[in-house]
Amino acid sequence: MKREFAVIGLGRFGGSVCRELSEEGMEVLAIDTQESKVNKFRNIASHAVIADATDENVLKELGIRNIDHVIVAIGENIQASILTTLMLKELGINKITVKAQNDYHEKVLNKIGADQVIHPERDMGKKIAHSIISNNILDHLELSDDHSIVEIKASSKLIGKTLVELDIRANYGCNVVAIKPKHSKDINVSPMASEMIREDDVLILIGADKDISRFERQLIIED
Ligand code: ATP
Repeated sequence: MKREFAVIGLGRFGGSVCRELSEEGMEVLAIDTQESKVNKFRNIASHAVIADATDENVLKELGIRNIDHVIVAIGENIQASILTTLMLKELGINKITVKAQNDYHEKVLNKIGADQVIHPERDMGKKIAHSIISNNILDHLELSDDHSIVEIKASSKLIGKTLVELDIRANYGCNVVAIKPKHSKDINVSPMASEMIREDDVLILIGADKDISRFERQLIIED
């Protein structure tokens, strides 16, 4: 079943979200105040309209109330982003995701009830910093301020050892939730303790950031 989305603000970030959702076959209403931005999405989104999202009547006329999930990707105009979020909240939108420009903006958005606040530049910066520290760290997903999931390519210190031998939970306080073998699409979720780590395996690890960092420093980075 197709789900309905609206993307407000078609800058680089909003535009990319809109394009991706449309390519995945989702119904997307694309909104921007600038005609040139809207024109770029006429053949991509299901509907593309020139509108100012800070105008409540405009939002109502667009039938935004019937949309499941609205993504507010207005960046620099923080006031417009906050006002739009507030109105979407008042109109009873089920899920509102907002791009925050800075920490203060994020705080206000959380206070007024945005369901998801994202900070793409900061999050991407963190991911890149982790992959710069070690080529073995492939991806990093922040679960909370102090917990993450990371994808780590097995280092020579891990290869040939079983999970029970490494005893990562007891020694490092984090858990291997899955192992992805390089040459197979099958992901081994909740691997058995007897599972042996092979060359090019990718481990998916969950835990507190401080525990993951200790694991990285001792078993991954000095590789
Ligand atoms: P990015 O980095 O994603 O390119 P940005 O963070 O620099 O974007 P802006 O370019 O400031 O963000 O805003 C993104 C888009 O939001 C712009 O295309 C802008 O025209 C649009 N926009 C700004 N205010 C409104 C509004 N009130 N209603 C609808 N669209 C708006």
